[in-house]
Amino acid sequence: MKSAQTTGVTGRAGAGAAEAGEAGTGRLIEALSRALPGDRIVADPDVLAAISHDDAEWAPAGQAAAGVRARSEAEVQQVVRICAELGAAIVPRGAGTGLSGGANAVDGCVVLDLARMDRVVEIDRDNLICVVQPGVVNNDLKSAVAEYGLWYPPDPASAMWSTIGGNVATNAGGLCCLKYGVTRDYVLGLRAVAGGPATGGAVAYGDAVRLGRRTTKGVAGLDMVGLFVGSEGTLGVVTEVTLRLRPALTGTPRTTVGAFPDLVSAGEAVAQITRRGLGPSVLELLDRACLAAVEDWKHLGLEASAAALLLARVDTPGESGAAEADALGEAMASAGALWVAQSTDDAEAEALFEARRLAYPAFERLGPVLTEDVCVPRSKVPVMLAQIESIAARHGVQIATIAHAGDGNLHPLIVTPPGDEAARSAAQAAFEEFLDAAIALGGTVTGEHGVGLLKRDGMRRELDPGSLAMQDAVRQALDPRRLFNPGKG
Ligand SMILES: Cc1cc2nc3c(=O)[nH]c(=O)nc-3n(C[C@H](O)[C@H](O)[C@H](O)COP(=O)(O)OP(=O)(O)OC[C@H]3O[C@@H](n4cnc5c(N)ncnc54)[C@H](O)[C@@H]3O)c2cc1C
Repeated sequence: MKSAQTTGVTGRAGAGAAEAGEAGTGRLIEALSRALPGDRIVADPDVLAAISHDDAEWAPAGQAAAGVRARSEAEVQQVVRICAELGAAIVPRGAGTGLSGGANAVDGCVVLDLARMDRVVEIDRDNLICVVQPGVVNNDLKSAVAEYGLWYPPDPASAMWSTIGGNVATNAGGLCCLKYGVTRDYVLGLRAVAGGPATGGAVAYGDAVRLGRRTTKGVAGLDMVGLFVGSEGTLGVVTEVTLRLRPALTGTPRTTVGAFPDLVSAGEAVAQITRRGLGPSVLELLDRACLAAVEDWKHLGLEASAAALLLARVDTPGESGAAEADALGEAMASAGALWVAQSTDDAEAEALFEARRLAYPAFERLGPVLTEDVCVPRSKVPVMLAQIESIAARHGVQIATIAHAGDGNLHPLIVTPPGDEAARSAAQAAFEEFLDAAIALGGTVTGEHGVGLLKRDGMRRELDPGSLAMQDAVRQALDPRRLFNPGKG
């Protein structure tokens, strides 16, 4: 992971603490040191800088006053109480793999690192649920529940690093979310350290609250869990998550690969597959530039002859699975595929999916990457891909495209040579135009990465003014002092 630019980023609370300057920072560190064991506190400037930004290299990061590596909910409560007393912002952080600047420090804040709260508290085989601390890494949870014959489906391409807390706070998607749903579909309950009226009375920053339930159904009261999922740390700090699980899949999935002469025909295949009601568990796109970047880095033996590949996976067993895989191939052929191939060889197919997962880090090696995350109705995927190409050409920016194509969620990656300011401003202009194009097609500015710092303007252009006002009112009620991750979302 690379370091982000450090420029002043001030949410309201952060600005207050920053004005207090060194004296304010000293008081904060002193209070934290009194309340917590010494090894929890990060004051070393280099370490603090390293945990003050996420993976969105373009998003500015502020100057944190301190970091805390919490080990328990009680410690999170102490941090929130101290921050409330001294007027410092709290920026929660998981693994820092976010791509929108959501975990970036604001000036004078405490970066609250939850990665060490990494215990799987309970796996309940009888009820297909588990309870975890927020710092559990997604793939580690998958491995833990697999021992019980269970499966936790949400699979962001960052699953080997990103935490469940971060996944919950961004409502992370992933590859198999096309069939199995996103993080929100698996979160039954939460514990959070909040502010506002969490105790039913006066504002009480630092109180812990239990939201949601353990049952598969439940409609008692408003959906507070739904509100917290995807709230990007702006409503409180998630300290425990109760998740729904599924039985592990059996059998070997089938993979259908289509190679296309251009991006738009690959997009047309996505639209066809949707229109025909086919149900792959995964439908991903990667273009020639992505394949080449991964091959240059990892030497997986990938051939980048076609302009784009579509990778579809079918996990329905038996004859029906075979028929679904055939039907996917037919849809790809009818959209103009150069060739279509099928495989049940897991190792062979996995190399292609590995290339898909590695595309982003492969580009990160080449220069600062500005990652787009637009999501459009699936019938509009070909149009959006055409617009991405023409906008990029008009601005003279270099892009490479990966996509959770079956969801209509497209990630053109804009790569700029390090230090080239003209390329940087062209990239910024193209980024904003991609957002506007998606909105005009009935889409959204962010399908899964969150608003963070990079899509704040875009979100305001997308959402109905009434919806924005309701959002502000909720924040005002739950965090009247705007201490939780101010200036984000
Ligand atoms: C190579 C790569 C591939 C990726 N692929 C995908 C993908 O397929 N799908 C996808 O959705 N995303 C993807 N991402 C983005 C990123 O991994 C996700 O957004 C992920 O959910 C972030 O988790 P994290 O633990 O790194 O959180 P962080 O980046 O540390 O934080 C993300 C946000 O959550 C908040 N937060 C973190 N923990 C808590 C908590 N306990 N309580 C309250 N707020 C909290 C932070 O303040 C921040 O706003 C990818 C990123 C990379 C680098």
